[in-house]
Amino acid sequence: MYMPPKPGSKIIIVGGGCFGLSTAFALALKKKYHVVVFDRQPIPSSDAASTDISKCVRYDYGNKLLYMQLTMEAMPHWHQWNKERAEQNESPVFEQTGVLLMGYQGTFGPYEEQSMQAICEAGYGHAIEKLLTPESIIQKYPQFEQTVRNGYDIAYVNKDGGWCNSEEAIKHLYGKCVGEGVDFVVGQDQGCFEDLWLDDNDKGIVKGIVTQDGTHHVADTVLMTTGAWTASLVDVKDQLQATGHVVMHFEPKEPLRQSLASIPAWAADITRTGYYGFPVNADGKLKIAHHFESGYLNPREKDHVSTPRTHVDHANDTIPISAVQHARASLAEIFPATSSMDITYTRTCWYSDSVDGGYLVSPHPSYKNLVIASGDSGHGMKVLPVIGYKICHVIEGIESDYSRAWAWRTTTVPENQGNIGKHKTMGDGQHNDRFATQDELLC
Ligand SMILES: Cc1cc2nc3c(=O)[nH]c(=O)nc-3n(C[C@H](O)[C@H](O)[C@H](O)COP(=O)(O)OP(=O)(O)OC[C@H]3O[C@@H](n4cnc5c(N)ncnc54)[C@H](O)[C@@H]3O)c2cc1C
Repeated sequence: MYMPPKPGSKIIIVGGGCFGLSTAFALALKKKYHVVVFDRQPIPSSDAASTDISKCVRYDYGNKLLYMQLTMEAMPHWHQWNKERAEQNESPVFEQTGVLLMGYQGTFGPYEEQSMQAICEAGYGHAIEKLLTPESIIQKYPQFEQTVRNGYDIAYVNKDGGWCNSEEAIKHLYGKCVGEGVDFVVGQDQGCFEDLWLDDNDKGIVKGIVTQDGTHHVADTVLMTTGAWTASLVDVKDQLQATGHVVMHFEPKEPLRQSLASIPAWAADITRTGYYGFPVNADGKLKIAHHFESGYLNPREKDHVSTPRTHVDHANDTIPISAVQHARASLAEIFPATSSMDITYTRTCWYSDSVDGGYLVSPHPSYKNLVIASGDSGHGMKVLPVIGYKICHVIEGIESDYSRAWAWRTTTVPENQGNIGKHKTMGDGQHNDRFATQDELLC
């Protein structure tokens, strides 16, 4: 049975990415705990899912009202952070470009239909602009003319949405955490979680953590916010699985560069194609990513648990050749301008997928003082400013709609349904999933 921490407790947070920093800040504001964040790399950790040039911020969530509400709650914070940064002459972390959600051949998918309905019913209908004819899309966004002609000819734009510079947002929140007195221990030896330190007499009590340098760190409560690494660090009993999803950058030349700098964040019939992208950023990078239902696995040898494979240990990795081929074929229709551009950067970014695509924020059922906050399932960044307050409630044993939705799951997903179960394994050289060569990234 979980025991919430008492005032004066030391809380160790393992993982200083999106979920970890947000929680550290929320806990620190309470002024009653000693909060220490451990990370295996200096923050922002270079291969954390939250370290990126852009992530989509949208409250369009189909019929998942809880996530819609959570993101709506986050929106004013994004604007507030922009104000804080403007005062320090720093660039905004949130760009309100709008999010363009396209349907196909005159029809919206259920995700777009349900999103519009839920948003209107929540009283935010003023943010939705429907673009129901091909001409109306082209008139507003001439950069998408060819996309429209290729069938993505019905759309709506949510004017409240946009994208965040997630790496800068993490740095911003890190600064706020330091300002509130959060302690940090970072680096491959002293900051890297190796194992839980369990009580010899009661294996259900976590005494603290052991780091890679062998040091034992005592804690009253341990929170694991290790993103896609979580399933390979503690036994989460098949609740979570690390899955890899590909990201590509292109670097359009002028005048296209400038033209594509003013497009909104976009998604092309996302449920069917999985492709979405962002405007060209200040460094001239055009990012397009593929959210597909299962992602890649990288099972480790000892127990086949999928573990993120990143540039930290594999500096020369590109992305699987199958992903390049799929992207080239799909983007020829969805974003034809990329057909004459080299892919200048690739990355596999890792989700912590839960069995049902919802977050997992819960006391671990096997321990009295261990909490897991992970299972982002590829959609956690947008709620960076507020997710920590909800995780804080779980740590303190306060029930809410969120704690109930994110509780330890008691059901498992039937085979071949949900995300867990149908994957490609990356880089094994079989099934066409070897990594692409640099030449194969050229147009
Ligand atoms: C391709 C891709 C696209 C995405 N797009 C979007 C989007 O458009 N919008 C959106 O809202 N979300 C998006 N996301 C999801 C978002 O990035 C994640 O939900 C979010 O980053 C999860 O935060 P986290 O704190 O759980 O994990 P992370 O941000 O990955 O942080 C985990 C931290 O744990 C640390 N760690 C790992 N192992 C150890 C260890 N042994 N010891 C100590 N520290 C450790 C890591 O260094 C890291 O700092 C995307 C994710 C990916 C992969």
